[in-house]
Amino acid sequence: WPLFSYYSKCCSYNRVWIPDNEEVWQSAEITKNYKAGDRFLQVQLEDGTEINYPVDPAALPPLRNPDILVGENDLTALSYLHEPAVLHNLKVRFVESKLIYTYSGIILVAINPYKQLPIYGDAIIHAYSGQNMGDMDPHIFAVAEEAYKQMARNNKNQSIIVSGESGAGKTVSARYTMRYFATVSKSTSNAHVEDKVLASNPITEAVGNAKTTRNDNSSRFGKYTEISFDQSYRIIGANMRTYLLEKSRVVFQSENERNYHIFYQLCASAMQPEFQHLKLGSAEEFNYTRMGGNTVIEGVDDRANMVETQKTFALLGLKEDFQMDIFKTLAAILHLGNVEITAVGDERSSISPEDSHLNIFCELLDLNFDKITQWLCHRKIITTSETVIKPMTKAQAVNARDALAKKIYSHLFDFIVERINQALQFTGKQHTFIGVLDIYGFETFDVNSFEQFCINYANEKLQLQFNLHVFKLEQEEYMKEDIPWTLIDFYDNQPVIDLIEAKMGILELLDEECLLPHGTDENWLQKLYNNFVNKNALFEKPRMSNTSFIIQHFADKVEYKCEGFLEKNRDTVYEVLMEILKESKFRSSLSLLMETLNATTPHYVRCIKPNDEKQPFEFDSKRVAQQLRACGVLETIRISAQSYPSRWTYIEFFSRYSILMTQQELSLNDKKQICKIVLQRLIQDPNQYQFGRTKIFFRAGQVAYLEKLRSDK
Ligand code: ATP
Ligand code: MG
Repeated sequence: WPLFSYYSKCCSYNRVWIPDNEEVWQSAEITKNYKAGDRFLQVQLEDGTEINYPVDPAALPPLRNPDILVGENDLTALSYLHEPAVLHNLKVRFVESKLIYTYSGIILVAINPYKQLPIYGDAIIHAYSGQNMGDMDPHIFAVAEEAYKQMARNNKNQSIIVSGESGAGKTVSARYTMRYFATVSKSTSNAHVEDKVLASNPITEAVGNAKTTRNDNSSRFGKYTEISFDQSYRIIGANMRTYLLEKSRVVFQSENERNYHIFYQLCASAMQPEFQHLKLGSAEEFNYTRMGGNTVIEGVDDRANMVETQKTFALLGLKEDFQMDIFKTLAAILHLGNVEITAVGDERSSISPEDSHLNIFCELLDLNFDKITQWLCHRKIITTSETVIKPMTKAQAVNARDALAKKIYSHLFDFIVERINQALQFTGKQHTFIGVLDIYGFETFDVNSFEQFCINYANEKLQLQFNLHVFKLEQEEYMKEDIPWTLIDFYDNQPVIDLIEAKMGILELLDEECLLPHGTDENWLQKLYNNFVNKNALFEKPRMSNTSFIIQHFADKVEYKCEGFLEKNRDTVYEVLMEILKESKFRSSLSLLMETLNATTPHYVRCIKPNDEKQPFEFDSKRVAQQLRACGVLETIRISAQSYPSRWTYIEFFSRYSILMTQQELSLNDKKQICKIVLQRLIQDPNQYQFGRTKIFFRAGQVAYLEKLRSDK
């Protein structure tokens, strides 16, 4: 327990972090020597008050880092590696120095400034181009450059994995990496190809992003874009895959949220001659666009954006008649949402033959009005012996109408993605690629459902892959430096993944239940309870509920409500069946993604949302701490802390600590040898450091100790 010996040994430099309700942690100075076993620590707070702070002798408050380390651009260089140190360092950089990027080992932590910063221009791109990551300030461009360089040096595919919660800046970061590649690898022969690659962003954002209460431009789908390069590392094209589009938004929006941007762009342009035949009006006139209460976003001009959308379509080579088919389909969806369904008694429903919206819907999509009316208000039930047509209640019919709207939209979305991919196809041979993944981070709400379950499951898989990668890198570094292999014990989340995807795990039981003719959410949940309660430590039944279950994820405990799991899973199963028809060697999209990523060298960007009010450079410690825990940054820190967090080259060590060296030591010729002798004299426990070929590896706390010796000199 290095902290303990430190506690009892030093008294002049004794600053600790103690928990604080507001700031999560606050700094305090120890005013009286701590003796082993003491249950109180006498400290002075920053405002001058002295208190007796109750402590657990087995878990003393974390120590503060020496000032020279505060503001470090790599968190893992801190001598004491723990949550308060990380939080404080990020805060100092962000609030005082307005620095939004910080490394945490191989992760780039990016804090959303909520303000346009002059750090993304072409001049900056060129400044980062060709540089080493360690030589430049942390930046999203440094990560992009690192990926580009490693691709060229090792001829290996790369990926940039961007994660974080809604509004943290994932999409903005992903866009910047793509701009970086487009700028540094401009193709000479195939003009405009990089413009086309960049153009895929505004289009997918128009059809897949929407205003939510957390983010005015929230991506409601996950996206993986592969940028293809030729043998001389020039961009030749791209390809993208999308995941989990939020379909429910097409027919329902909560207060203060909107439907997908494209609908508002279209409504805002309804009066233009080319759109007259769509018979649209303002967004306030349509159920599917007015539900959230406010159809405009401050600072956004939907009409101007429509012009941009059309231009981008044109840039991608999508002709006007093709574009018009898309707009017709979108208009049809809006009209469908306005179709009035009336109840006929308790059991039936009907639609007036005069219903203008349904008429326009049919006209736009070239459908037979009578047939549509029939199938919106009735359903066909096929049994082994007969086929019966049953009327639907009003509620059922409204449901059927909305389901149709969602189906049409999700097909349209897939279709647009497919066409963009066609436009980005290349003729030459792909030599290598860099994939950019922009996917929702770990999510937990008051009520969590199937969607959160899928997102969190995907994040578990990404985390596992991340852990293995970090582990592998550490191993490689030790080998390179000829350091005996020490086993690092890191948090292994394979057990949660097993709980979800192993044989007889949560997903298999769900699939089984879906296939049963009378399967229900409740029956499935009961099976989960029977199989896992008291048998699997990562699964719990909430005490007060019979309709939910709790999973202990790597980031947090999450309670899921079972309602709707079967139906939503059936939906994916159904689509899975469709996919199977398309390609017989089929895998689920998530495992395909994982397989792709596994075959690349990953680079990680973790975006952090610093406050919920979108205030520039406002740092809400509570919110940041919560995200650091959820995105695995603290986990990497923990891995580093258990191994050798501080690594100094012999030269660095020599120049900083020559002040601690004796004349006799300094008279030796071999600097490396001097470092070794000095260190053995200064730190008695040989387990606290290792001599590598070019670097000295220190355990946590050792650099702080050396700093203290240095400042006492
Ligand atoms: P979601 O999961 O909802 O899609 P996201 O993580 O993709 O969220 P973004 O849309 O990238 O979040 O960012 C939200 C907003 O934050 C942006 O529209 C922009 O206003 C601001 N923002 C993010 N990153 C930056 C940045 N580097 N500089 C300036 N503003 C930024
Ligand atoms: Mg986004």
